[in-house]
Amino acid sequence: MKQAPKITSVDIYKSYIELKEPFRIAIMEIRSAQSLFIRINTDTGLYGTGEANPTWGITGETQAISLAGASDLAKIILRKHPLDIETRIRELSGFLVHNSTLRSGFDMALYDLLGKVSGLPLYAVLGGGKRSFWTDNTIGISEPDDMATKAVAYKNQGFKAIKVKLGETTDRDIERIRKIRKAIGEKLPIRIDANQGWDYQTAVNVLKALEPMRIEYCEQPIARWDYENMRRIRQNTSIAIMADESLFDHHDAFKLATMGCCDYFNIKLAKAGGIHTALKINAIAEGAGIHCMVGCMMETRLGLTAAAHLVSSRPNICYADLDGHMALKEDPVIGGAEYNAGEINLPDTPGHGADIDGAFLKRCERMTVK
Ligand code: MG
Repeated sequence: MKQAPKITSVDIYKSYIELKEPFRIAIMEIRSAQSLFIRINTDTGLYGTGEANPTWGITGETQAISLAGASDLAKIILRKHPLDIETRIRELSGFLVHNSTLRSGFDMALYDLLGKVSGLPLYAVLGGGKRSFWTDNTIGISEPDDMATKAVAYKNQGFKAIKVKLGETTDRDIERIRKIRKAIGEKLPIRIDANQGWDYQTAVNVLKALEPMRIEYCEQPIARWDYENMRRIRQNTSIAIMADESLFDHHDAFKLATMGCCDYFNIKLAKAGGIHTALKINAIAEGAGIHCMVGCMMETRLGLTAAAHLVSSRPNICYADLDGHMALKEDPVIGGAEYNAGEINLPDTPGHGADIDGAFLKRCERMTVK
């Protein structure tokens, strides 16, 4: 490289997109996606774009909290070299602990920029290959009959796996899966996610009852902090257990693996603080013989495209739950991953290959740090 590029300014856009319908999970209800788009500009004319989609009930971040933090983080990286990602991430996470979703927006923009400067798609920047893969589609909590109707619709659309939100009472949750299984037949795998909604005994009771119903795995049966009981639940059911809210960063990954709490990890950029730490989590998983899924919050197709590059680059990531944008009323993204029902194909354009439509950005409140 002739001369190292420098970060000249950071644009922070406040986005608001309504959901097609409220999305209910055990711990919260979501009605709109309130992302921040982070654009890191350089003196080369190239810029990188990242998305931070705060999910307050999981990471403790709202859009207002993230917005306040974003200007502080932008000041830290200003006039510095954007391609020294190792140092930039250490500075950002050293300054602002937690706030993983906000930090992931900066991380994503830096990796996008690295791809654009090197002329390579993100999966290649990560040292991986290009492969198409499938995401499931997720059904939020509602009446069991409504959930069964949705499951049939997803099956007819061509999805190869259906994810179902649970985490209420024993009887209602068992009824939900019985009705869904009856409606869609025996073939399609069902993935379930209790989002911390059960206690130890409820989890064991529900999972025991669901064992004959071809459940691929169960995400986060109990409270995020209760590692010991997650391990006990795993010992008491044949259904595979996946850690989600218990797993934010590589330190959590190490502890979960060492304690034998789960069969799978659900990595999300919004919890990990971005791709940099997500790679560390996957490496720990692989060392422990644990396979990973990459999941999402309510990102647009931009955030999901970045996550899809991560999936593509690492064969140890064997599942994808990258369906957040399907719940949104609007798709403001140009380029990026293409979805054919649940099949995801990545672009070969440099970086993650997604950008936000200019007309949409004009409607967003903007703050520039320079
Ligand atoms: Mg989950």
